Amino acid sequence: MTPRILGLHHVTATVDEAQADLDLCVGTLGLRLVKTTVNFDNHHVYHFYYGDEHGTPGTIWTTFPYKGHGVAVGRKGAGQVVTTSFSVPHGALAFWRARLAHAGVAATDVEERFGETGVAFADESGLEFELVASARDPRHPWTVDDIDGSAAIRGLHSVTMLVREAGPTLEFLASLGWQEVARDGPRIRVAVHGGGPGHTIDVLVDPQRPPALNGLGTVHHVAMGIGGAEEQRALRQDLLARGVRVTDIRDRCYFTSIYFREPGGVLFEVATVTPGFAIDEPLAALGTALKLPAWEEASRADIERGLPAITVPRQRT
Ligand code: ZN
Repeated sequence: MTPRILGLHHVTATVDEAQADLDLCVGTLGLRLVKTTVNFDNHHVYHFYYGDEHGTPGTIWTTFPYKGHGVAVGRKGAGQVVTTSFSVPHGALAFWRARLAHAGVAATDVEERFGETGVAFADESGLEFELVASARDPRHPWTVDDIDGSAAIRGLHSVTMLVREAGPTLEFLASLGWQEVARDGPRIRVAVHGGGPGHTIDVLVDPQRPPALNGLGTVHHVAMGIGGAEEQRALRQDLLARGVRVTDIRDRCYFTSIYFREPGGVLFEVATVTPGFAIDEPLAALGTALKLPAWEEASRADIERGLPAITVPRQRT
């Protein structure tokens, strides 16, 4: 059996303040908060998952708001995902320029790239995002009262990962199924499983760029989706056989994961599409209560006391 990467699964970043993150992702961008939980490696820090109605792999953006925990501001650089792009419908950019301006978020136009245009903006932590207008994204969006289907985010479009040298990274990506589909100067686009939004990574090459430092305002890792546990085990064995240092299989409750670095230094995760976010609360209630993994329930009172108070912006009328 050939292990098969399906596309992007999620992108995870370290951000500053929990409330500012919710206000941007739910209030301004109109993503659905599909899970409120804690960092499984530090239960005094929230872990927010945003996505479409179900939190479908390929639509998921996740954050660890580390304000007050002594984490320094990170540095963008080589060996890191430097931009996360979401997909919006063709023709929706005027709506988003106006909406971002209304929310006090400065936005700039993205020059046409591989036939698509977009707008770029940053969050309060300094994370860089784009909304890319695509005429070829059939995914059904999560809509809210003031963002209808003609403008709503469809999910992840792509990530841009910065490396110093193209060759080893492209070769490694190809071994996972990501094939080069386009090239424009230092930017090389790879795609998997048919390509298009949610199935695209841009490799940006800059030999002079200093290495990245993880911290506030930086992406921690990008996760790719794989069908199930058996394929994940097979991929792990394959990576080990090739000498790649890969973690054991970690239980993330909503998927299981393995982690490893590509030759350019970017941290990759491969996560299963199952069981998904409805495993511990009903679909209609996703994200509304603090969910903890079974092994943390005994500490719930202590965990709740240590987390900052938050107000989730209204998600739907
Ligand atoms: Zn992850």
